[in-house]
Amino acid sequence: SGRFGHKPNSPFFGTGSPALVQPMRRIASCSAAWMRRGPSFSLILNERSTTSRGSAMMVCCCTISIYPLLVKVQFFTFHLTQVPAIFSHLLQRFVNRGSSKAGILRTMTIKVAINGYGTIGKRVADAVDAQDDMEIVGVTKTRPAFGCDLAVRKGYPLYCTFDDADRIASFAEAGYKCHGGLTDLLAVADIVIDCSPGKVGASNKETYQKAGVKWIFQGGEKHAMTGMSYTSSANHKENLNVEGTRVVSCNTTGLSRTLVPLYEHCGDLQVECTMIRRAADPGDSSKGPINAIKPVLKVPSHHGPDVMTVKPEIQINSMAVAVPTTIMHVHVIVATLPEGHGLTTESVLSMWSQRPRIVIMNGSETGITTTAEVMEFARDMGRTWGDLHEIFVWEDGVKLVGNNLYYFQAIHQESDVIPENVDAIRALMGTESDWRVSVEKTDSAIASQFE
Ligand code: NAD
Repeated sequence: SGRFGHKPNSPFFGTGSPALVQPMRRIASCSAAWMRRGPSFSLILNERSTTSRGSAMMVCCCTISIYPLLVKVQFFTFHLTQVPAIFSHLLQRFVNRGSSKAGILRTMTIKVAINGYGTIGKRVADAVDAQDDMEIVGVTKTRPAFGCDLAVRKGYPLYCTFDDADRIASFAEAGYKCHGGLTDLLAVADIVIDCSPGKVGASNKETYQKAGVKWIFQGGEKHAMTGMSYTSSANHKENLNVEGTRVVSCNTTGLSRTLVPLYEHCGDLQVECTMIRRAADPGDSSKGPINAIKPVLKVPSHHGPDVMTVKPEIQINSMAVAVPTTIMHVHVIVATLPEGHGLTTESVLSMWSQRPRIVIMNGSETGITTTAEVMEFARDMGRTWGDLHEIFVWEDGVKLVGNNLYYFQAIHQESDVIPENVDAIRALMGTESDWRVSVEKTDSAIASQFE
């Protein structure tokens, strides 16, 4: 099993050597089932390799059935071109046929690499690590600096962002075990989450394509570069099985959370919004302003049009100003609903309360009237770094007047996109087609870390 597997400490595969697993590195699934006549174990492996005709996949299936007085081993291999991940799932079902549902034990993990272990990268790594259907196979740092200790403490294998031998060696000199360069990491991954600084990631795309792994960029990259964008509630289906995508920015994610349900109810929506943006993240010393209000002198700002990369039907314009705060963004939104929308302020609030990842609170009743109290409330929840994955809507700041809906919402910029990355992994790998099921799975796995 060391020949095929690379999941250390797995009860099924023991310890696999990364050097040996490269030629045959992907375990799509394995299962143990109690068949009618006795125990049966099955293993489905698949390997993607780049051929002159593009991406191909080899599927190997091995079934070992141990019945009383009978040991049966079946092994078959076949090559397929452009096989969607769903195929291996169908195979798994086929292999498991006849077994009682309760008796099936499945292990199937998506191997996830994080390229860029910074503000977003470290959070995505933890969210992935919390899930039972995916695992972190490595994270990269550009050099042996601040952040490496955290990766070591969390048990994530550390890789260098570059393949340069000297840069890789510098990690050992600083006392860190570095498992290799980016190419080595991609060789053991199914998908890479690029969390490099904005506009840097574009240069990594070709590397990912050459390595034959799927890729997810962040909101600092342009939609034109990735050709696809993603938010869980807007376009999970459109992202199923695609080669790569971009999880839109924190602001666009926040806008989608409240606007998509309105659009789904009304079938038409025109939106004007002003984004009041934090100047810098708390851990960032290089940005500003610290003593000014800085308008974004590009109208509309990119935020509104960015929503249309995930929900083109919503007509939206935005303007933005940066202000001297580090903790949250606030959106001031006016959404014009079509005639005959049939909504009231209360029914809009009720609609949002039934959607995931939206928190609605009454400011005057709770005393949470500014972003400072929202963040204190988030820290009280106890998530790492005081994160708030949900969009915060002030109940007493929502009002529907005729066809115009007015509301404020606050966005924790460092964390609202984190669970969306997890859902995007499932979309690209084709392992969950229902966004609501994925969101529920993602959020309950993250929540279980803090129980
Ligand atoms: P960051 O600066 O905190 O982290 C980036 C990490 O990538 C650092 O560890 C850096 O050393 C590393 N890096 C540098 N060059 C690299 C390269 N060539 N390849 C790989 N890694 C490299 O940045 P961040 O805030 O985590 O932002 C990452 C992405 O997420 C950006 O696209 C950004 O726009 C987006 N985003 C950021 C926020 C936020 O509030 N911070 C919110 C939503 C989306």
